[in-house]
Amino acid sequence: MLHMSTAPRIAAAKRDWGHDERGCTVLHIDMDAFFASLEIARHPELANRPVIVGTGNRAVVSAANYEARTYGINSAMPASRAHQLCPNGVFLPVDHHYYSRVSREIFGGIFSQVTDRIEQVSVDECYMDVAGALLEWRSPTRIGAWLREQVRARYHITCSVGVASNKLVAKMASTNAKPDGLLLIPVARQAEFVQMMPLRGIPGIGPSLERRLNEHGVDSVRALAQIDLPLLETMTNSRATAQRLHDAARGLDSREIVTHTPEKSIGAEHTFEHDVTDAAEVCALLRRCCDDVASTLRRKGFVARTVTVKLRFPDLSVTTKSLTIEQPTDAASALLPVTFRLLRAMLGIAADAAPTRLPRAIRLAGMSVSSLAERTKTVVQPTIDDMLAESGVDGHTSSTQTRLRGAEETLDAIRSRFGADSARLGI
Ligand SMILES: [Mg+2]
Repeated sequence: MLHMSTAPRIAAAKRDWGHDERGCTVLHIDMDAFFASLEIARHPELANRPVIVGTGNRAVVSAANYEARTYGINSAMPASRAHQLCPNGVFLPVDHHYYSRVSREIFGGIFSQVTDRIEQVSVDECYMDVAGALLEWRSPTRIGAWLREQVRARYHITCSVGVASNKLVAKMASTNAKPDGLLLIPVARQAEFVQMMPLRGIPGIGPSLERRLNEHGVDSVRALAQIDLPLLETMTNSRATAQRLHDAARGLDSREIVTHTPEKSIGAEHTFEHDVTDAAEVCALLRRCCDDVASTLRRKGFVARTVTVKLRFPDLSVTTKSLTIEQPTDAASALLPVTFRLLRAMLGIAADAAPTRLPRAIRLAGMSVSSLAERTKTVVQPTIDDMLAESGVDGHTSSTQTRLRGAEETLDAIRSRFGADSARLGI
């Protein structure tokens, strides 16, 4: 992953766009040349020298400070090429451990003081929804200024902040605020702001889409805004892309801020009193684990995408295997087939075989889920199976998955009244 923006900046965009902050509740915060800045923070003698992070024969540049960029050095450029461009530069090895530690401190110690409505995009970049924080803070730019001041005072590095009504414009604003700036784009100016940009100034427009648009005579965001939706769809062969471009050219973006939970995984496991080879016993245990984990997911309001099965053998060795599913879920009925599939794969049991004895004795078995997201923020789309199962008559979802999940919610209610072991789902 690259941590150095190559998005085009326009000097003329870094100016006062007005002070009407109404509706501007999205902040995009991006550290300036994060890795390089952190190296300078711990080696102050390097300040004002070109600093390039990434060294070695086959390495690429991970980060370069603004002094190094004046030599034409860019992220993902081979480090050897950077050496040629800037022989007097200071080349340092990448220290991910250090950068991640400071990143965690900044997110946990500074950003989280404003709100928990944060979508972290990478180690040095996030979106923040400050709508709920305004009662206390009153103004989004005041929040932005405070964040910048705190980061500078505590870590001796700078960050740039974009303030706007949506993620697209906030990100383009922080890009154009760099380095070490804050840019507010009032709602009434957002179309004008994006329309002064080249096509590549819109995040998501890469070289091939740019070329495609150029072939149709579209060479700027202003020109893009003149193209109607059906023509855009013809140009891009994609309704979704056409709609996004149509919106973006007007400074519109309907994407929500998706907060990821600090909770990384939820799991259940059990050590047997004796080593077990009885397939039914292991399956029954994993079934209970799925049931418990799904119940915890629902109680906490999460859905999960990754399922991991863990087995410990009599020699105490441990093995785990994971699978990421397409559709995030909080239902045991969806977790169980994946869990069994992983168990088969781990023990080398063919998909069509149903042995009563496992090929290997097991001391501990368990399963966990990760890649969690808030259920309310996750669009749960029906699978093709679901759609085929729809009656389609009354418009209500009556698919198997939905009915099973309903049954599980009923079990949650019974358990909360009569205790965790009062009811189990017989899938
Ligand atoms: Mg950055």
